[in-house]
Amino acid sequence: MKILVAVKRVVDYAVKVRVKPDRTGVETANVKMSMNPFCEIAVEEALRLREAGAAAEVVAATIGPAQSADTLRTALAMGADRAVHVLHDPDPARPLLPLAVAKILRAVALQEKPGLVILGKQAIDDDCNQTGQMLAGLLQWPQGTFASKVLLDKEKQKATVEREVDGGIETICLKLPAVITTDLRLNQPRYATLPNIMKAKSKVIKKVTPEDLNVDIRSDMEVIEVTEPPKRKAGVILSSVDELLDKLKNEARVL
Ligand code: AMP
Repeated sequence: MKILVAVKRVVDYAVKVRVKPDRTGVETANVKMSMNPFCEIAVEEALRLREAGAAAEVVAATIGPAQSADTLRTALAMGADRAVHVLHDPDPARPLLPLAVAKILRAVALQEKPGLVILGKQAIDDDCNQTGQMLAGLLQWPQGTFASKVLLDKEKQKATVEREVDGGIETICLKLPAVITTDLRLNQPRYATLPNIMKAKSKVIKKVTPEDLNVDIRSDMEVIEVTEPPKRKAGVILSSVDELLDKLKNEARVL
């Protein structure tokens, strides 16, 4: 069985995001970019399933500009077998929306025929948390979102997924093929070792375009302006609990 993993190139989680002076989007020039952290967890889970003998091949896929090949190389260095790069250089005013990404991933899934597609639960740049759900809907495959544990039964062609919900852990059983999105506590992704980084250079990255896949990615949404959130006012240090109570009562009027 094959596992398809969707990985997105995003501004590194440790970078303080800055809005461009012309307010058309956020600054990405000379900014450290990395694999979306939830996608790293998705790659790790696919590798663990392959290492446990539940899958035979892990294919990483991304949609993005030429530089997104770095993200695929990271997935290959972690241990993915090969990769698919859907080349798309988005206009900042017309970013690729989750529905378009899901349509492209659906086309890739129909070509690759994986038993499982694993995505991050959300991309930390747009925070949409929509692509996995939309992909499952388009493919009409069952979905296990926010997975904190995944077990695969190759013989019965089933996946058991534990999900963290408000009241505790929910366990669901999915018939394969299925779509899974990863939550933070699913695993601790591995670091790529130097020999594996070298090995990854010779692994295959297939390049295609949305047009090759016959996917229409036009969107009705246009970004008009991106602005910084208002600066927070400095706090004050109070000298007593009585003073705090007084302020809560008479200034904030919350008591
Ligand atoms: P989102 O719905 O945008 O929060 O993204 C959720 C997940 O969808 C990400 O963690 C990725 O696994 C996948 N995804 C979103 N955008 C892309 C992209 N451009 N290329 C590959 N995967 C993506």
